[in-house]
Amino acid sequence: MGPVQIIATSVAAAITVVATVLVVRTVRRMISVVRLGQPDPDRGGSRGLRLKTMLTETLGHTRMLRWTVVGAAHWFVMIAFIALSSLVLEAYFEVAVPDHGLPLIGSWNVYGLVTEWIGVLGFIGILVLIGIRLRNLPGNPNRRSRFAGSTMWQAYYVEYTILAVLLCGFFIRGFKAANDTLEWPVWAAPVSHGLGAVLPASAAAVSLIAMAKIIVSMTWVIVIASNITMGVAWHRFLAFFNIYFKRNPGRAGSGLGGLRPMMSEGKPLDFEEADPEKDQFGVAQVEQFTWKGMLDFSTCTECGRCQSQCPAWNTGKPLSPKLLILSLRDHAYAKAPYLLAGGSSASEEALAKVDVLALAEKDRPLIGGVDELGVIDPDVLWSCTTCGACVEQCPVDIEHVDHIVDMRRYQVLIESNFPTEAGVMLRNLENKGNPWGAAQSTRDDWTKGLDFAVPNVADGGDFEYLFWVGCAGAFEDRAKKTTRAVATLLNEAGVSFAILGQGETCTGDPARRIGNEFVFQMLAQQNVETLNEAGVKKIVATCPHCFNTLANEYGQLGGHFEVIHHTQLLAQLVSAGKLTPVQPLDGAITYHDPCYLGRHNRVFAPPREVLGAVASSSPSDDAGLVEMDRFAERSFCCGAGGARMWMEERIGKRINVERVEEALSTGAKTVAVSCPFCLTMLGDGVTGKKAAGAAPDDVEVVDVASVLLRSLSSS
Ligand code: SF4
Ligand code: SF4
Repeated sequence: MGPVQIIATSVAAAITVVATVLVVRTVRRMISVVRLGQPDPDRGGSRGLRLKTMLTETLGHTRMLRWTVVGAAHWFVMIAFIALSSLVLEAYFEVAVPDHGLPLIGSWNVYGLVTEWIGVLGFIGILVLIGIRLRNLPGNPNRRSRFAGSTMWQAYYVEYTILAVLLCGFFIRGFKAANDTLEWPVWAAPVSHGLGAVLPASAAAVSLIAMAKIIVSMTWVIVIASNITMGVAWHRFLAFFNIYFKRNPGRAGSGLGGLRPMMSEGKPLDFEEADPEKDQFGVAQVEQFTWKGMLDFSTCTECGRCQSQCPAWNTGKPLSPKLLILSLRDHAYAKAPYLLAGGSSASEEALAKVDVLALAEKDRPLIGGVDELGVIDPDVLWSCTTCGACVEQCPVDIEHVDHIVDMRRYQVLIESNFPTEAGVMLRNLENKGNPWGAAQSTRDDWTKGLDFAVPNVADGGDFEYLFWVGCAGAFEDRAKKTTRAVATLLNEAGVSFAILGQGETCTGDPARRIGNEFVFQMLAQQNVETLNEAGVKKIVATCPHCFNTLANEYGQLGGHFEVIHHTQLLAQLVSAGKLTPVQPLDGAITYHDPCYLGRHNRVFAPPREVLGAVASSSPSDDAGLVEMDRFAERSFCCGAGGARMWMEERIGKRINVERVEEALSTGAKTVAVSCPFCLTMLGDGVTGKKAAGAAPDDVEVVDVASVLLRSLSSS
């Protein structure tokens, strides 16, 4: 070893020791913070499935590739990052012995070839990512930028570090080629040999650049070790764990499905046995989230994909799912020293060692306005429609909706602190069994005037499907038309079905989404009992909220049914030739995917199959199905979910107006929906636009079932 190599090796060794000590300390601290969370028994088991999902989502980049260019660029950067580890390791040998590389595999041509091309593509990938970030810089005129609110220096720092390490790698190889000591032939390392052709021969340059590469890499390690909340860096390690422990690992996409039950001490809380002194009712303190919640907060990369899709954020509300997660993360880590010292049961001696910031943080309410120094503003909490767009888009499977509902639960059940107008809905649910407060005796009024008798379970006849009408379908005038259309179509196709009539009550969906688990359990238990007594096996529902609750949540209370949405059943009947649309359509149709049917339950194709069959019955080329810019997984909420249907929308632009403008921009005359709430929200939006002269008079919002019925009934 010459003097250059001795100095370079000493510097590399020193910085590596410092970086290793710091990063081990930070990892231990991060584990202890995650462990502050509550138990979560649902995250174990299904190890094979979890591993498969984790590998598919990470190596296959199945979430990221939905944003194709970004996804492809990120895939190469991720692979390059993994390969970088071996290249950094290689540098430890090159710094001391410049004409050598990695022992054992270092002289293997395949190793040279693979790392060469991963380096080239990773280099291009990181340039693409930097370019995308620069093109989407946040700022007031660009509030919608997905990077608004992200810690930009951290992202730049990570990106330029990767760029610098890749460049160092190529220069090391280039100098080795110039020194005629590169292990691989030209075909395996063409870029390195090309560089070598223009660089002078210098063994010292190899050692010095290898040292620079180690310094850049270890400085990065020191920086991330000193910034425990630097998600843009830490996600490179944490994402594997967060995805492995996601809920519903076997479900395609996010497919949120049912909400997690309210947990206390790792068990679902049963209100009949709950003890207010002992049990946890939702989340009031950050440490009351589960450990998976803590892991979620730690893993956020600040990429802003969730923010870019959020209907609340996109219409000027204060809620950004990204900023919500970042606020919880920063609060959790700031409060952690106090909690790790023992929290409320800490000794005075232990508390004396806790820094003042952590002591100040412990007194901040989780939910509270600016004057109360709340971590999450109430307007943020109540703006969420639980549409699931954030969860769907998150590349590291953060579960925003569960966290939001957990915080709502405490506010509703313990603090009675929620938008006052929603109180009417909750009272109606408790007293009348439906959110409108309509008399139960009128629940089957929609059957009046039909030219066939709608069978009732109470009649005692056999039936294949229980037709779950839902409260909107029974009481809301526009939704009643859908109910009548579905009943008529089922009757026409010879499907054996029956209704519960006055035996039906609200599924409890709005109560659960607003956070009132008590009312949800009360209604759900009653329905499960009724359905089980009636021997129901199969249910068809017109409301995606009812569909989701019956299919995915009643199992938590002993109700196990095969549930189908009416668009799925109608698609089957059309495909089997039992319903044949023949009446031509007037103009094009566009279809709005309801969040709880599409994103939450992955029912995208059946409504389109029905509409496609109707459209194909028309000889006109103008009568096809046209998609909006945001459809299927990226559909934009109508604004009614998460019990927002019963809350005033006082901030920003109305979400339904934003969606209606998108629908109108397609030029379609028919805006088809498959949810009674979407029918109301988009219907109101179109009515408003017509009144303002901003929509043609002949545009209408109708359910898929009504479109199909019209196409049959005039035949
Ligand atoms: S569920 Fe929808 S409204 Fe709520 S934070 Fe996520 S994207 Fe926004
Ligand atoms: S929550 Fe997920 S999608 Fe949103 S910024 Fe964080 S990592 Fe990105």
